[in-house]
Amino acid sequence: MKILAIANQKGGVGKTTTAVNLAASLAHLGRRVLLVDLDPQANATMGSGLDKSKLKHTVYTMLIGESSLADTRQVSESGGFDVLPANRELAGAEVELVEAEARESRLKDALTAVAGDYDFIVLDCPPALNLLTLNGLVAADSVMIPMQCEYYALEGLSDLVNTLRRVKQGLNRRIEIEGLLRTMFDPRSTLAQQVSDQLVKHFTSKLYHTVIPRNVRLAEAPSYGRPILSYDKSSKGAQAYLQLAEELLARHNPAEAAHPV
Ligand code: ATP
Ligand code: MG
Repeated sequence: MKILAIANQKGGVGKTTTAVNLAASLAHLGRRVLLVDLDPQANATMGSGLDKSKLKHTVYTMLIGESSLADTRQVSESGGFDVLPANRELAGAEVELVEAEARESRLKDALTAVAGDYDFIVLDCPPALNLLTLNGLVAADSVMIPMQCEYYALEGLSDLVNTLRRVKQGLNRRIEIEGLLRTMFDPRSTLAQQVSDQLVKHFTSKLYHTVIPRNVRLAEAPSYGRPILSYDKSSKGAQAYLQLAEELLARHNPAEAAHPV
């Protein structure tokens, strides 16, 4: 079992789109997947087809000890994976947990109980280096960093890397950078191409070969509560996220290197 945090404190870079669609792609490839929504915006919850206004238990109630993981967990029918959903209340976790014991490792402790149920647990982190993201980084084996290839893409990356270093020194020695993912890529943009070339130069082995193109179908799918594989399997976006899942699997276990679907 592998816990993968999707993190970047920069907003709107494609974290949630990646979390939902990677979860669905891994499920499509036969893996047992749990998606955890760590963002009070609850976009991953909605994008998985769950109604955030109708939740009895959420990641919030789970983190403050008012619900068990088993009670909180739901099934995404459109995605083929399980979800620990969120809603606005999760914004209060920061305050609620401030004096709580082991407040950075609440999620990790909760996930330990279901480690055997899944091949992958994917964590959708909020756009901040706050206590929720910290819970994600403490629980995770590795971090995937989605990046938009634009002028300020690298700005803020050092803050994330420094946070990861601190987490590694103190709270979670296992944590590694899984890889950097280029998202919303527009091959016609010279700037995007230049930034991409820079990423290749600086991060070679940490950069995924798979590039996620800008694709309007990816932006439409969440409003139907569906991952792209369920909304439009033949779209470029769907194919790219499937390829990413295959690349991830091949990196983790070269022996079972992906066969095309
Ligand atoms: P936040 O920091 O607010 O959590 P995020 O990093 O999770 O944002 P997303 O919500 O995944 O980013 O994406 C931001 C917006 O861009 C959304 O409207 C999403 O539908 C759209 N989007 C993401 N990826 C793509 C893509 N490859 N092509 C087109 N639109 C995309
Ligand atoms: Mg998001």
